[in-house]
Amino acid sequence: MTRAFYIGRFQPYHNGHQYVLEQIAKSDDEIVIGVGSAQLSHEQANPFTAGERVLMITSALKTLDLPIYVIPIEDIKRNSLWVAHVRSMTPPFDRIYSSNPLVMRLFAEEGLSVHSPAMYGRELYSGTEIRRRMLKGEPWRDLVPESVCEVIREIDGVERIREIARDDCDV
Ligand code: ATP
Ligand code: MG
Repeated sequence: MTRAFYIGRFQPYHNGHQYVLEQIAKSDDEIVIGVGSAQLSHEQANPFTAGERVLMITSALKTLDLPIYVIPIEDIKRNSLWVAHVRSMTPPFDRIYSSNPLVMRLFAEEGLSVHSPAMYGRELYSGTEIRRRMLKGEPWRDLVPESVCEVIREIDGVERIREIARDDCDV
């Protein structure tokens, strides 16, 4: 039995994340997903709450036939203690999957082996690119699972991104 760990901010959850998790589901028996910077929302780079991101992830992974635990994790702003913080909040896991250099480094320094999945369509499947498109009114729906479109519609997410980008003088 292997339990995998995957962490991201998922602002928003997109097809790159979905591809990686579908691969992990083929090689591991259970998946723990950490929703990082859980305390942040309503910011340009972090528009969605932890709860909204949990909804995006769980709805997109409903079809996977294995136990999935989605755990919000707040920042502690002390990188040297971060792995212990993550482990204090999550079910125990055997393998870590991440392509984020800082995350890889922090787990490796604690003696844990990190698998680094190849990037999938990174020019398009990127949170930064999707938020940019939402703000500019460019097409973004093809870059996320259909169920994520539905969650973003339900919470009026695109309008939120546009409103928080405005200045007092724009009102
Ligand atoms: P942002 O641009 O806001 O940083 P992001 O697309 O990098 O968003 P994150 O939530 O920061 O998404 O990433 C979570 C994890 O998913 C990281 O390990 C990251 O390397 C990985 N990841 C992001 N995009 C892809 C992709 N297109 N293919 C494979 N892995 C990806
Ligand atoms: Mg990133």
